Amino acid sequence: MTDPTPADQPTGPTPADLPTGPTPADLLIRAAAVHTLVPGEPPHRAIAVTGGRITALSPAPDGLDSLIGPATDVVDAPGSTVLPAFDDTHTHLILAGHSVHGVPVHRARDLTEFLDLIRERAARTPAGEWIHTTVNWQEILLAEQRMPTTGELDTATTEHPVLVRRGAYNMVLNSAALRLAGITDATEAPPGGVIERDEHGRLTGRLINRAIELVEPVLPRPSLAERIEGLRAASADFAATGIGTVRDCLVPVEDLDVLDAARAEGALAVRVRALVSGFATRTPAQVDALLDRMDDWQAAGRDDDRLRLWGVKFGIDGGFEAAAVDEPYRDRPCYHGRLLWEPAELLAAVERVIGRGRRVGVHAWGDRGLRVLLDVFEQVVKRHPGLPAGTLVVEHGGLARPEQRARAIALGIPVTVQHPLLHDGALTQQRAWGEERTAAVFPLREWLDEGALITGGSDFPVGPYGAMMSVWGMTTRGTTAGVVGPEHAIGRSEAVALHTMNAARLTGESAVRGSLRPGAFADLTVWPVDPLDPQACPVDALRELRPTRTLVGGLTAHRS
Ligand SMILES: [Zn+2]
Repeated sequence: MTDPTPADQPTGPTPADLPTGPTPADLLIRAAAVHTLVPGEPPHRAIAVTGGRITALSPAPDGLDSLIGPATDVVDAPGSTVLPAFDDTHTHLILAGHSVHGVPVHRARDLTEFLDLIRERAARTPAGEWIHTTVNWQEILLAEQRMPTTGELDTATTEHPVLVRRGAYNMVLNSAALRLAGITDATEAPPGGVIERDEHGRLTGRLINRAIELVEPVLPRPSLAERIEGLRAASADFAATGIGTVRDCLVPVEDLDVLDAARAEGALAVRVRALVSGFATRTPAQVDALLDRMDDWQAAGRDDDRLRLWGVKFGIDGGFEAAAVDEPYRDRPCYHGRLLWEPAELLAAVERVIGRGRRVGVHAWGDRGLRVLLDVFEQVVKRHPGLPAGTLVVEHGGLARPEQRARAIALGIPVTVQHPLLHDGALTQQRAWGEERTAAVFPLREWLDEGALITGGSDFPVGPYGAMMSVWGMTTRGTTAGVVGPEHAIGRSEAVALHTMNAARLTGESAVRGSLRPGAFADLTVWPVDPLDPQACPVDALRELRPTRTLVGGLTAHRS
């Protein structure tokens, strides 16, 4: 496979621009090791940054001292290690921005703590105002292994409508919220949605999939200022774990303007590569309308290195409990999950997108889902010879069988993988699929040995994000269900490459990101120990390891 065409070429200073002496650096870091990730290059000890770009590297700690000027910020960190900032190549910053100021129920260990957190928030919230929760939690990880009910939420408050949200497709409401939404025992769920009821036919308060649309009209619309503050806090949280670029895999097209406004206010701590959601599009006319809006946005010149439109996102099957699989679900002998598209319709949609010069990422989780997706991609490749590499991407490819891996590799199709998703979802997946199939999810060792381009991500809010949390997971295969499929583990430097070098290849930015070389963006992380050295950093210390500093384009995105 050849690299996708780089979106940016490094523009180093030309000889004519240079004054007679060396240009002083904006920033100089002296460290124990600067791992450039350039293949074959031994660690450096000093790195200089000017104008948001890396300008020089030296194997000697004092090798760049001639670049120190009166305004140079000199960081002496003799025990520290410098790495490129990480990419999270499949995550959901938009959702994180909505969630970041919610009641932090992801910290609760059981329903008592869960309800106490809501009660505390209610105590300092004016009556009648909505209370909502964070979305990054799993009921299976609570002691009771279930969601709260309306009755339980009512014990926390009846004075406020409460919206408990988990991920993008699950909600539980208290009585006040159900009342505002006009949902009663008699309400019928819309097609594709579930209003859960108990054995007596009464509401439990839980709404699934399209039933959440019943609530959306009565939810308060956050102001633009609130959205920007949400993105500011959420992007800073990503940066605090060592992430410098996020590929947001579900951006509603109208939210491109919100991201743009956040960027304009300096509120995006990390770079964003946006996949616009094609989930509500079916017909060619709907796909065209979406592409028109993307073109209009980009034509206004709003695409830059901080915020870039990556392409369109579709999904071919469900997730842990609805992915399309060849063997039936464990306790449901007739259930093989759901395909969300007729292959011919998906082919038509993908062709419209690539016909406009845009890229496509398609969610596929089960082996049947992935096979059908590869059938579609194979047709696209056949009918469009010369399609640039990286135009078609498999998102997840969770259960990738040997023949499917071989096909994806032969077609030159990159795959984004997310160990954190398996980490938090392993118990749910084992219930649905059994232990053997769950252990087979994300065969990273095989993907790499067979020559695939795979890249690392989290799929937050379903999985926790974090640079070294992901490295820990990929090297240990540790999950909330214990170690699963240890034979699929990969090494530390391979795991780091999935979030750096490989990620930059995926986004077509290898010339400026993913490794530390003169001319590249100064997207750096500084670590208190060397994460690549098992002596200095035992594997279990990786999990909680945070950088002391994250720089994006030479600007401090995080500092501890
Ligand atoms: Zn996702």
